[in-house]
Amino acid sequence: MNCPKCAITLTRKYYKGMIEVDYCPNCRGMWLDFVELDQLEDVAFDEDQFKGSLVHRECDVDCKCPACGGHMHEFQYRLYNLKLDLCPEKHGFWLDAGEDERVIEIMRTHQDRIKRKKEAESEWKNFLKGLHSFFKQV
Ligand SMILES: [Zn+2]
Ligand SMILES: [Zn+2]
Repeated sequence: MNCPKCAITLTRKYYKGMIEVDYCPNCRGMWLDFVELDQLEDVAFDEDQFKGSLVHRECDVDCKCPACGGHMHEFQYRLYNLKLDLCPEKHGFWLDAGEDERVIEIMRTHQDRIKRKKEAESEWKNFLKGLHSFFKQV
């Protein structure tokens, strides 16, 4: 497979010792299979039901999928300020250098937010419970 940005051959490498990715030694971008993006996110946050939808505002871009040669789509990643490329035929995702770290960072932030939300919800429930028993006493 060739790099969609600089067309040189991608080399296999173990990312963080757990995901086998195709890596471009020139631009340091990497190609992730469709499931591998999820595995990358799981490094930081693995509760899929709280992740929200992945792809927003897709649009056609010039670079080509290393697997099928079709045009890739650029999309906004989970409503965060990050743009990634994907193959509309679901072959995988292209991450430019550093975008993998952004994904992990975003997932950490997201996890904190979900945790705070859960805590706030249970505090609210406790508050209501307290209120309820207060009125029962009156
Ligand atoms: Zn490259
Ligand atoms: Zn493809």
